Amino acid sequence: AAGLIHPATASAEIDLEAYQHNLRQLAAHVAPAELLAVVKADAYGHGLVPCARAAREAGVPWLGVATPGEALALRESGDTGRLLCWLYGPDEDLTSLVAADVDVSASSVEQVSDLVAAAATCERSARVHLKVDTGLHRNGSPLEEWPALVGAAAEAERFGALEVVGVWSHLAAAEDPDHPSTDAQLQAFEEALEIARAEGLEPATNHLANSAGALLLPRSHHQMVRVGIAGYGVDPAPGVAASAGVALRPVMRLRAQLVNVKDVAEGQGVSYGHTWVADRDTRVGLVPLGYADGIPRHASSRAEVWVGDRRAPVRGSVCMDQLVIELGPDAPEQVGDEVVLFGAPPAPTAEEWGQVCGTIGYEIVARIGARVPRHHV
Ligand code: PLP
Repeated sequence: AAGLIHPATASAEIDLEAYQHNLRQLAAHVAPAELLAVVKADAYGHGLVPCARAAREAGVPWLGVATPGEALALRESGDTGRLLCWLYGPDEDLTSLVAADVDVSASSVEQVSDLVAAAATCERSARVHLKVDTGLHRNGSPLEEWPALVGAAAEAERFGALEVVGVWSHLAAAEDPDHPSTDAQLQAFEEALEIARAEGLEPATNHLANSAGALLLPRSHHQMVRVGIAGYGVDPAPGVAASAGVALRPVMRLRAQLVNVKDVAEGQGVSYGHTWVADRDTRVGLVPLGYADGIPRHASSRAEVWVGDRRAPVRGSVCMDQLVIELGPDAPEQVGDEVVLFGAPPAPTAEEWGQVCGTIGYEIVARIGARVPRHHV
């Protein structure tokens, strides 16, 4: 479905210079720790391959993805740098990852065994990052099973099947400096590292921090930080980037043309269910993006867009392919004029859309659908 809307009609403009600017700021902020740019989920909706190239050009040594398919797509695009892949099922083929020189995460003894088998098939050693669950209770080995996991990995390293590159984990609430889980996670991570060292491992690239950790928690940096959302110029939570003194530039600008403009009279209902009824004679404009394109239906009568030099509210229900905005009485706009749904201020930001739609900026950008063309500038 890639780009099935005409790019003049609607597109997500992706400012790769802003992406590089953000990555450079973040790299400087966390130095000497290294940066891993997270480009999973089509680079949070920004386009996997162009963003990966831009990150490499900006000097980012590591990229990270969730799925093996994402990792292999990057290799097929010609990317040869360090690349970590961390989410796969028991039936997936790890040999293609090992053969493609991808670092792979392992969260269990079974995953270590699968990786050893893949290494044997490829007649080379596999690079592994051992994931410990320090308190997110999502992926990673529980601490009780950690000694067995590092024991198995250490043995495999001794006979040359594996190279243990790093120990890693993920934070639950790094954006909230007062959250009690963060200290507990930092402490558990130190313990996990000690257990790994006691087994004879000397992992050199250990990593725990996401964007919020990178911005706010120097203790979480270790040798590398995994930065996703901040690279895309979206604050992990209100005020996080500012309190770290880092100025982020929004990377995605979602814009569209008005495809219909009309007057509605006071008392007329607009869009499905007439959930909004005009309270005055006014003008409305039609924006050709809807919930099939990732615009939350929750934006109905809640979000605002930028048109001309002012804000205009979304009115009534967001439909599958389109939504209606109120331009106001005697508004000058015509078919073809541009609307910015979100981007850099003074337009609403993705963070603002997240807030008014009861979600987070991450979801706003990441769910922009495949039908919407990405225009990389
Ligand atoms: N590391 C892992 C394992 C992740 O799943 C993610 C994204 O959710 C990140 C790092 C990056 O997080 P953020 O986008 O908050 O920087």
